[in-house]
Amino acid sequence: MSVVNLLDFDLEGLAAYCESLGEKRFRAVQLFRWVHQRGEHDFERMTDLARSLRQRLAGAAEVARLRVLSEHVSSDGTVKWLFDVGGGNAVETVFIPESDRGTLCVSSQAGCAVGCRFCSTGHQGFSRNLGTGEIVAQLWHAEHVLRARLGAAAGERVISNVVMMGMGEPLQNYAALVPALRTMLDDHGYGLSRRRVTVSTSGVVPMIDRLAQDCPVALAVSLHAPEDGLRDELVPLNRKYPLAELLQACRRYLPRAPRDFVTFEYCMLEGVNDSPAMAHRLVALLQGHGSSDLQGLSVPCKLNLIPFNPFPASGLKRSSPEAVARFAAVVQAAGIVTTIRKTRGDDIDAACGQLAGEVLDRTGADLRMARRRGSIPIQAVGVEVPR
Ligand code: SF4
Repeated sequence: MSVVNLLDFDLEGLAAYCESLGEKRFRAVQLFRWVHQRGEHDFERMTDLARSLRQRLAGAAEVARLRVLSEHVSSDGTVKWLFDVGGGNAVETVFIPESDRGTLCVSSQAGCAVGCRFCSTGHQGFSRNLGTGEIVAQLWHAEHVLRARLGAAAGERVISNVVMMGMGEPLQNYAALVPALRTMLDDHGYGLSRRRVTVSTSGVVPMIDRLAQDCPVALAVSLHAPEDGLRDELVPLNRKYPLAELLQACRRYLPRAPRDFVTFEYCMLEGVNDSPAMAHRLVALLQGHGSSDLQGLSVPCKLNLIPFNPFPASGLKRSSPEAVARFAAVVQAAGIVTTIRKTRGDDIDAACGQLAGEVLDRTGADLRMARRRGSIPIQAVGVEVPR
């Protein structure tokens, strides 16, 4: 008989499992609280469970933790873990402390099939989906290790926010994602607010609609370009779900969302998408003055401008601070709340789009991009290879 991983279950799933053992629902609540709130993995120490249940669980179930391959702590307090998920695959999880919150960036897949042009994970290709237990185990590890390390008082949480922005496209691993989100939100689990759990997607339109029904949390969309031609190159999924469909999905999502805006992420790439003209096109798109498909349809939003973290195979460069400031000024003048993301954990390669692994350009996107730019070859930027 295979051993059941309790981290694979949201509370409903655990209740069903407990029922299969002949136990009442309140036992599932106790067990869930032991595992997620107290970080306990040894059934013998779950002292308010009947001894007979503890013994049965010890033979049939486990709290399957992820093996830590490495941990790096940045001078700014950012922590990056590399977890072994078997079969030669590893995923990364990053904790970002700030004065008023602790944010955990969680991975949903080993590798990623979307292949965004500016993303080192995308350049690795796709290995496999993570299971619910492997997604939750990242939070379980970070919360309980940091709580012990920081000497948090009983009941005090270290992680207040989760962003599904690590490796992978979470909406291409939907079946595993939703129970993981429910565990994060559950008052008997991590008790996170829906407003503080964010799913970031490159634009899997049908799954945005399903998430609105099944588990609406805050939504972030990787936009990166204000027009389909360029976005086709930067985010290949755009060929399947172009901007008009994506923005309409965002509008449908908002009535059920915990926040009244969508966050758009925009990675600033020198000479590619960072000109003032691009900024004006972005404003037109988001305020409904753009293509005829979206005329008159604005999307309430905030914009995050992200400094690109160069890696050699990308053939792309980070926009200058002046270019980012000029771009931000155009968008802000149009009334769109815009932030320029601070880079965190630069010294441990924990910044966005800089997660794990060997970089292989399997996409040929640099050649296509060079053609778009008039056959001028793009030189690789001389930077360290991401570890
Ligand atoms: S940015 Fe996200 S969706 Fe795009 S390749 Fe990277 S991990 Fe995948």
